[in-house]
Amino acid sequence: MDYVVIADAYGKMEATSKRLEMIDILVDLFRNSSKDVVSIIVYLTQGKLYPDFVGVEIGIAEKLAVKALVRASGVRESEVLADLQRTGDIGQVAEICLANRKQSTFFSKALTVERVYESLDKMAKTSGVGAVDMKTAVFAGLLSDASPKEAKYLMRTVTGNLRLGVADMTVLEALAVAFGGGREARGVIERAYNICSDLGRVSTLLVLEGLDAVRLLQVGVFEPIRPMLAERLSSSEEILEKFGGKCLAEYKYDGERIQVHKQGDRVVLYSRRLENISSQYPDVAVLIRERVGAYEVIFEAECVAVDLETGDMRPFQELMHRRRKYGIEAAVEQYPISLYVFDMLFVDGRDLTCEPLTVRRAVLEGVLERNSQLQIASQKVVGCPKELEGFFEESIAGGCEGLICKSLAKESVYQAGSRGWLWIKYKRDYKSEMTDTVDLVIVGAFHGRGKRAGAYGALLLAAYNRERDVFETVTKCGTGFTDKDIGDVYAILQNHVVPRKHARVLSMMEAEVWFEPCVVLEILGAEVTLSPIHLCAIDSIRKDSGLAIRFPRFTGKYRTDKSPQDATTSKEIAEMYQNQLKQITTS
Ligand code: AMP
Repeated sequence: MDYVVIADAYGKMEATSKRLEMIDILVDLFRNSSKDVVSIIVYLTQGKLYPDFVGVEIGIAEKLAVKALVRASGVRESEVLADLQRTGDIGQVAEICLANRKQSTFFSKALTVERVYESLDKMAKTSGVGAVDMKTAVFAGLLSDASPKEAKYLMRTVTGNLRLGVADMTVLEALAVAFGGGREARGVIERAYNICSDLGRVSTLLVLEGLDAVRLLQVGVFEPIRPMLAERLSSSEEILEKFGGKCLAEYKYDGERIQVHKQGDRVVLYSRRLENISSQYPDVAVLIRERVGAYEVIFEAECVAVDLETGDMRPFQELMHRRRKYGIEAAVEQYPISLYVFDMLFVDGRDLTCEPLTVRRAVLEGVLERNSQLQIASQKVVGCPKELEGFFEESIAGGCEGLICKSLAKESVYQAGSRGWLWIKYKRDYKSEMTDTVDLVIVGAFHGRGKRAGAYGALLLAAYNRERDVFETVTKCGTGFTDKDIGDVYAILQNHVVPRKHARVLSMMEAEVWFEPCVVLEILGAEVTLSPIHLCAIDSIRKDSGLAIRFPRFTGKYRTDKSPQDATTSKEIAEMYQNQLKQITTS
């Protein structure tokens, strides 16, 4: 299949910011594709070669991309760099250079999707001596055979600047329409995606074997499951009411969520964002090999930093010392951890995700041989607010953040990839809405002055609207950042600058710089108020009003463990607003 078909579709996607139009363009693209390349198109459209958990990334340095462009177009490097300086868009530069190309290629080979994918794959997997030359040659080869328009998107793809704004949910919906018989099929396709986290795999199954095969897909080791998430409430009465009077309360440990996959001696650990983080926790792999009795298992645990001498739990931040490439042995010694297991999803061929919590929990207890490092989350069945409050206080005294209350109903399945009312979190800070923390996504910024000149003075932050799959601004925040934070945030954001407001961002406020929604920060707010400027939960409380967070302050916690879709949702902020009102009326 010719790559130009994809390039044309990208051109159309770029011209729209409407999600429904984006879906229509994708549906057309899928329908015009040969069956064996649909998965490739799915990956490429999201700027990937594989699902995230594989850890192979497209991406070559801009310098190297420029060299390849010079070689393919014959345009001088100084001209290329000047164009880049002027436009700030390396894709556009490639388009211009190839339109003015000095040397024409007489023996050009057609640029097929397959060839593009294979070349990018080869480039991504090459390292070591001679890698730079090899990558430059392969990429220059692709560019030589590309039309200006194709070059534009190839260039953006390899430099990690494609940013079409095609979210997972958009792809799922387009697949349902193109191959599943209509939008109704989305639920089945989404479930399959949630248990294997690989959109390419799901699309291949759908295209080649049909919707029934997708329906039958099961959980398997080394295919991470998208995590189940908790809703939040701020009183024990409300929580018990939601659960019909009784629930299972569990300590909410403050660490890093880990999904453990084991087959024989092979152990792989995935983060909440499904990255392979095994190299950070070699001690966990040893523990699992020694103390987990089944051949194949998938389970979830919170990994917490501990003080071995006192047995006390240590703050979440200590785990950050494990995020390093080198010197991990020293970090293992210096920052020991314990695992608190809270869910069992798969044991020796048995998919437990559709079983109720009580069954999963019983299996869990039978499989683990506990010790001080490998424990099961403390839990208690509670039937009245007093009992729940008592257990909550116990958890805080034990160094935890609060409780995760879980449904005991027979429908209490593991809802992969979704936030629902089967789990409800209850944290201390929710007791006073005035000191609540939220996790918000950076979508824009304003230039700094004085000490902050050359960096950003304030950030425009957004909540995630899950239903519409967009990010809605909720506050502008410039407080709580140390000088180091100011520099760090600026550096991190440089990789995510986009020329105009991102397609998935809703904002009435005009930022001076826009970003693709990627970076999540923990923010402490004083109050949620109605707002004529911010679009968070617009119209849900009052017509033409959104919600804003007043007096926001960065807590110092970069939520690198959260993807933008894991940020606090607009709905949660609306609930916080409602709860605040309740407190005012009852006090
Ligand atoms: P939050 O990060 O505030 O949205 O809270 C949800 C997180 O709490 C989960 O993603 C887990 O990492 C963590 N957690 C700690 N203890 C438990 C538990 N017993 N059950 C489920 N999740 C837990």
